[in-house]
Amino acid sequence: MADIIQLLPDSIANQIAAGEVVQRPASVVKELMENAIDAGATHIKLVVKDAGKQSIQVIDNGAGMSPTDARMSFERHSTSKISKAEDLFAIKTLGFRGEALASIAAIAQVDLKTRQHDQEVGTHLIIEGSNVVKQEICETSAGTNFQVKNLFYNIPARRKFLKSNTVEFRHILDEFQRIVIAHPEIYFEAFHNGAETYHLPPSTLRKRLVNLFGKAINDKLVPIEEETDLCKITGFVGKPDAAKKSRGEQFFLLNERFIKNAYLNHAVLLAYDNLISPGTFPFYLLSISMDPERIDINVHPTKQEVKFEDETLTYNIIRSAVRYALSQYNIAPSIDFEQSPAFSASGSSANPVSGKMLIPSSFSKPPVMDSWEQLYQGLEKTAAAPSKSTLTQLVNFEDGNEDRKAPVQIHQSYILSQIKSGFLLIDQQNAHERILYEQYLNQIREKPSSTQKLIFPKTLNFPTHEAVLLESLLPYLQKIGFEIEGFGKDAFILHGIPAHLSNLGAEESLFHELLQQFRMNVDLDWSEEKKLAALMARSSSLKKGKIMSVTEMKSLIDQLFACEVPFKSAFGKKCFITFELDQLESKFNQ
Ligand code: ADP
Ligand code: MG
Repeated sequence: MADIIQLLPDSIANQIAAGEVVQRPASVVKELMENAIDAGATHIKLVVKDAGKQSIQVIDNGAGMSPTDARMSFERHSTSKISKAEDLFAIKTLGFRGEALASIAAIAQVDLKTRQHDQEVGTHLIIEGSNVVKQEICETSAGTNFQVKNLFYNIPARRKFLKSNTVEFRHILDEFQRIVIAHPEIYFEAFHNGAETYHLPPSTLRKRLVNLFGKAINDKLVPIEEETDLCKITGFVGKPDAAKKSRGEQFFLLNERFIKNAYLNHAVLLAYDNLISPGTFPFYLLSISMDPERIDINVHPTKQEVKFEDETLTYNIIRSAVRYALSQYNIAPSIDFEQSPAFSASGSSANPVSGKMLIPSSFSKPPVMDSWEQLYQGLEKTAAAPSKSTLTQLVNFEDGNEDRKAPVQIHQSYILSQIKSGFLLIDQQNAHERILYEQYLNQIREKPSSTQKLIFPKTLNFPTHEAVLLESLLPYLQKIGFEIEGFGKDAFILHGIPAHLSNLGAEESLFHELLQQFRMNVDLDWSEEKKLAALMARSSSLKKGKIMSVTEMKSLIDQLFACEVPFKSAFGKKCFITFELDQLESKFNQ
């Protein structure tokens, strides 16, 4: 009988190995981004189409590859990161198995452009199902531009198992989050189907978390820093009252790499014992640094599971570090340890806002910019000495607990607010547009708003062309807090509105105005989400002519200066003008 054993061809072996490394588009995102980080990139851009099913592209400004290395990188067990078995234990870079690229190239169409910084030209490689289709020199920016198209195109059974775009994209965002949290010093950008999903300039860890999860998290973070002979633990845990019903925002980094570890997770939860109610989960991001020799990371092909040599000790260190941090926070709440200027918690002016206005309640306790605070500093001292006259009391204490001069509304359009060096004149409509714009954008991108149900759902009718447009905006409107769905031809049914929108009854005109704004701004070359946030802000902002109470004005001012960009509306119109005292002085002395 003839021999029947044969060696599998490389392409099949690679496909099999690929099953271990690449489960879904998110796995490719992870491998490519980790390679970019290993290559020393300081700026990494992720571009995804169709939840990664059509294309995943990672563009980095790292070291790049020589023509030979570019070709070699797709061979199985090719890696620049280890050369002998012992290296496995000392490895600090992310990739170390030399399998990822070979695996990816076996099950997708890969287009690679790469250039080293000291070279004039780069290499362009196209590989499909492990076959090199093209290799030529090309012009390209220094670094590596990796595109992976049509994942599993040659394994239909695997492709069929991919989940819906929403689910696959969620997985991609999970991987993306884990990576960007581990590297706040790196500039990251992410795009999906042409729209910018994340824009994350290099920053402190605290600010990175705020950029990722929204401003509200800033007040919820308790910093941790603990150093022992075995390991160093840094990061943040969430205040107990911020615990959520769903798990999710819980991260362990080990030597700057995301890991999962049920045992250590337990240590953290134990530290929260009696502080949170059962069934809720605290936020945590704990970064553990430890001598790599004391860890075996290589037990899992995608390297998320690890074995610690001193597991129990690590457990105890984590538990007591978290417990200690939480007890410290009880004594000294919300100190900004990094003194990051944009996010110093002010804790001031939690003004209750009149129910009639469109001011979001989520902003009721805004962190205020340092520089902004400084504008007002000393005002108490330079202001007229507290006289006991009723007039002064009227002006200064109209709202009870007054801490600065009450703002004044002029022509029902502008707000005059005294600051240390003079005064500000705020355009109420532009300012409110800016506030709502940032709020909506944040809701669309990160934190969907909560909804208040209408007791009686409302049917809304639109002309066909408007209905088509509205249909395409539904996913965004839902994130903003509208519960709305199509209802036959050209009609929609509204079940709920954003919790902060309390002008019940005006929804219909709000949508009409929004759609009209869209028509007037068809040429606006912005991403859909940015456009929607800006136009929605414009449609729902309070307009000139609206009379505001002192409380409302102060709330507006606080919210404006809690914005990332308080200076201009989304459409670039000024939100306020500053008048300096010496300017005034000279005007009178002309
Ligand atoms: P590993 O990361 O485990 O070494 P990979 O298959 O992911 O294996 O990558 C193989 C090799 O290709 C890497 O060791 C590295 O030398 C090179 N490489 C991959 N991606 C990049 C990149 N973005 N920039 C520079 N070199 C890269
Ligand atoms: Mg790798």
